[in-house]
Amino acid sequence: MTAAAPSTVSFDGRFDSRFARELGEMAVPWQAETAPDPRLLVLNEPLAAGLGLDPTHLRGPEGLRLLTGNLVPNGATPVAQAYTGHQFGWLAPRLGDGRALLLGEITDAGGHLRDVHLKGSGRTPFARGGDGLAAVGPMLREYIVSEAMHAMGIPTTRSLAVVATGRPVLRDTMLPGAVLTRVASGHLRVGSFQYARATGDINLLRRLADHAITRHHPGAAEAGNPYVALFQAVIAAQASLVAQWMLVGFVHGVMNTDNMTISGETIDYGPCAFMDAFDPAAVYSSIDETGRYAYRNQPAMAEWNLTRLAESLLPLFHDGQEQAVALAQESLAGFRRQYSAAWSAGMRAKLGLHHDVDDDAASPLVDGLLSLLQAGRADHTSFFRGLGAAARGHREAARSLLPDPAAFDAWAERWSALSPDADAMDRVNPVYIPRNHLVEEALTAATGGELDPLKRLLDAVTNPYVERPGLDRYAAAAPADFGAYRTYCGT
Ligand code: AMP
Ligand code: MG
Repeated sequence: MTAAAPSTVSFDGRFDSRFARELGEMAVPWQAETAPDPRLLVLNEPLAAGLGLDPTHLRGPEGLRLLTGNLVPNGATPVAQAYTGHQFGWLAPRLGDGRALLLGEITDAGGHLRDVHLKGSGRTPFARGGDGLAAVGPMLREYIVSEAMHAMGIPTTRSLAVVATGRPVLRDTMLPGAVLTRVASGHLRVGSFQYARATGDINLLRRLADHAITRHHPGAAEAGNPYVALFQAVIAAQASLVAQWMLVGFVHGVMNTDNMTISGETIDYGPCAFMDAFDPAAVYSSIDETGRYAYRNQPAMAEWNLTRLAESLLPLFHDGQEQAVALAQESLAGFRRQYSAAWSAGMRAKLGLHHDVDDDAASPLVDGLLSLLQAGRADHTSFFRGLGAAARGHREAARSLLPDPAAFDAWAERWSALSPDADAMDRVNPVYIPRNHLVEEALTAATGGELDPLKRLLDAVTNPYVERPGLDRYAAAAPADFGAYRTYCGT
């Protein structure tokens, strides 16, 4: 088998079932529900090609059966994965994939192992009261937002396809059902380690950690204490990831421990959103009543989750409890440091500051700008993109977004004196993000069978940094009557 050979005849032999084989205690072999009338809504052709899957084949009847879990190729063992989750701070010991299956792993064109995972494929033993299904809208939302994140260079799970199943799903109303095919470097979560630890089986915990090292952080294997090194690698990956979210104004919405990966990829796009008006307290999820996962709380919540990971890993750190705790604390202290460094470097890039501008000059500029943005509730994305124009001497776009132009001018004088690099700014400040009103428009249309708005939105957000003619409405803020945006999870 050649890794990237396109499968033109069958998907047989393309899938491995490594997770199922190595971590059987955390994998329940399971079958997807039959999709009565599968129809392809969207297929990610470049991603398919990268996996060595022929897009034409995927579009055909056999492909649609694969993408709904109704065709299980030789070599694949679909499983529901077991994991724990601290949900809004409360422990749910036995969460697991209630409506998802890991189909198996594929070696991609770059030689990397990639999980192929189906979401919305029917009830599993972890479904509890849920119906195991997903509606077209939320699966397309994950497709749009994850592909936009990828295009911005932010680590994320990817979306290969959304297939409408032909099975209606009951939510507030009857909605068309769908299955999303998600591709990820892995589906291990903080909650996976909580689950393994809670079994009391240290051997399982060690096998899980070894699996995570091999798949995600191979450098840790070389360290004196590979498990502490694994923990530190996850800390580093999450510090960098959350900094990148903050820099583009992304609010994940449900940073429960089951929704935080060991790989450092963003996962589980439920009630997520990009901020329009800059507001540190921004919350979009209808169920986040206390604002636990508000924009500004995301770094602290990541650190909270990493503390749960540390608790789960303690027995692997050291035989002595005290020494193990000391190692965990020492490592955890690195999170704030690394997050701050990543965020500051990212803000400097957003402002186009050259490397020789020292932090004593950069920090007050950044702080001053954030105060202006917050006081003026400026549109986050438009403002930063407008700053690129300001660096070229055209201040009006950025200036017009703030209610106090004089304050902006005073700030801009100090900033311009540092000769910001406008081209560099345009490479990190996106023009096109999945704006909430555009996402809603596309999802509503797609739910009604009209796919053009989805295609146009995807075209804009998957090439986010280059301004293109005819796409003005994709760069514009929400109309005033769009109102306070709310998203709903678990649908
Ligand atoms: P999420 O909020 O998507 O991270 O999901 C949290 C947990 O609820 C996971 O264990 C999911 O598998 C499960 N879940 C969410 N929606 C459903 C559903 N409709 N049916 C069964 N399980 C679900
Ligand atoms: Mg989840």
